[in-house]
Amino acid sequence: MTIKIEKVVNGIAASPGIAMGNAMVLSNRDMLVPLRRLEPTQLDDEIGRLMRAIDLSKGQLRETRQMVAKDMGESYARIFDAHVMILEDKRSLDQVVTRIREGYNAEFAFNAVFSKHEKALWEKGDVYIKDRAGDIRDVRKRVLSNLSGTRREAEELSNLDSDVIVIANDLSPADTARMRSERVLAFATDVGGRTSHTAIMARSLEIPATVGLKNVVSQVEDGDLVIVDGNRGRVVIAPSKDTLARYTLEVERYAKVTKGLLRFKDLPAVTIDDRSIMLSANIESHEEVDSVIEHGAEGIGLYRTEFIYIGREGLPGEDEQHRIYKAVATRVAPHPVIIRTMDLGGDKFLSPFESPKEMNPYLGWRGIRFGLARKDIMKTQLRAILRASASGNVKIMYPMISGLEEVISANEILKETKEELGREGQAFDDACEIGIMVETPAAVMIAEELAEHVDFFSIGSNDLIQYALAADRGNEKVAYLYEPLHPAVLRFIKRTIDVGKKSGIWVGLCGEMASDVICAFVLLGLGIDELSASPYVVPEIKEMVRSVYFKDAKAIAEEAVRGTDPEKTKKMVTRSMGKGTPDMPL
Ligand code: PEP
Ligand code: MG
Repeated sequence: MTIKIEKVVNGIAASPGIAMGNAMVLSNRDMLVPLRRLEPTQLDDEIGRLMRAIDLSKGQLRETRQMVAKDMGESYARIFDAHVMILEDKRSLDQVVTRIREGYNAEFAFNAVFSKHEKALWEKGDVYIKDRAGDIRDVRKRVLSNLSGTRREAEELSNLDSDVIVIANDLSPADTARMRSERVLAFATDVGGRTSHTAIMARSLEIPATVGLKNVVSQVEDGDLVIVDGNRGRVVIAPSKDTLARYTLEVERYAKVTKGLLRFKDLPAVTIDDRSIMLSANIESHEEVDSVIEHGAEGIGLYRTEFIYIGREGLPGEDEQHRIYKAVATRVAPHPVIIRTMDLGGDKFLSPFESPKEMNPYLGWRGIRFGLARKDIMKTQLRAILRASASGNVKIMYPMISGLEEVISANEILKETKEELGREGQAFDDACEIGIMVETPAAVMIAEELAEHVDFFSIGSNDLIQYALAADRGNEKVAYLYEPLHPAVLRFIKRTIDVGKKSGIWVGLCGEMASDVICAFVLLGLGIDELSASPYVVPEIKEMVRSVYFKDAKAIAEEAVRGTDPEKTKKMVTRSMGKGTPDMPL
């Protein structure tokens, strides 16, 4: 046995929590694909063999879909519809059949066609599109193993007989779904960012996870003791006795703190010196609403509706959307839900075969740009949202605004939609608040003009940081540049808040900064009115707000805006946060 020395690998925190255990390494290596030349008389049988393997794969995917729908909800289950769709793409299947007719065996023909699609998506370089390439890879491997009758490595995840930490180059949503098993304590992957399906599912399953570790697979062997720190985005391989002891203490503290924090659930987010902010939560799917309520958020500060559109056949209709929005609005009432019109295009596209051909998808046809160009899709959504506004406290928000004209045009469509609904005698809330995401530097700089047309701003720090610092939010190679507390970012945020105050509209922030306790302290100090965080961190942010003085946060935020060193800011915040005593309910 080789004695290993402790090694820390840093990546991206994808799902919070800490777990320690023995590694199970999924090599995820591509299987060897046999190549055989066939006689013309064998071709029909070979096509039949291919079709049987495809039917079997579709059956397996539908079974997984059902299991996931039951355990995790419809929106996650739809990922498997996308997988089935890949296998129903007639053009690709025709190409495979043509290759077989040229005399190749089914494995080789199928692999050749689908690897090509996968490679084309992968080379686009955008993290979201890479996820779609991952979907194709998953489906490709499934069909190949069904053709060859071998068991897929990841299949073993559903039949574990001891606790493991899964280490993989990449995990597909299907693999992640299998981790429902209580045996999987955590996972860590080489690739991926916070927005991958896998990361989203890990958060929903509440499994600690770190992604974007670049080459963790090659450094870990089956059975190695590892720690996955999903809070810091870190993996410790072969931890020393000291590290183990430290982490053991932290796990105990984390469990106690998490449980203890829920005691704040029904208390307001107010500082010791009486400054209140609104603390709400972000959701990607309507199934997360219960979690929002359980964690004591005062409503939903961002509902990312694009997940209703992606990974499905065809567009969602008005009635289907209305049912979803109404269910969410009713469940959180009297608290508000801010429904963001779909942030589609560019980095999130409608189906695996409709990826955009753009060099720079994050700077491309996304958000409101897509919405204004596809007025039909936008209007259907606005009708559904407006109708839901009759059943609760609904606000509407437009994403990716970079010019005044966009807001004016979007409001014009909204006005038309209201008139249409009025003529039809449909109920809706005419006074429903309208807001925009402030997530481009351009929007920050013209905030005065934009404020005249909306009721609120919600700062999208995830995008604002990447545009301000020219550092792709999904690229692990430039993750070191992606610094929320960079003074340039803080100055943009401060300007937005100040303009909001002068213009008499409220300003919130719904990017990941709201979920980070240190950043949240600085945002509080900058005078933010609302923070919308991931549901599970709401109690932690609330505890922080209740245990600090606004005057301290304000002084530190002012210094952070003037200064140039984010590390110094972090130190000042940590020192200051340790000072107050949380007002714990008895
Ligand atoms: C953001 O950009 O901060 C944001 C909340 O939107 P998304 O992460 O969906 O782009
Ligand atoms: Mg954004």
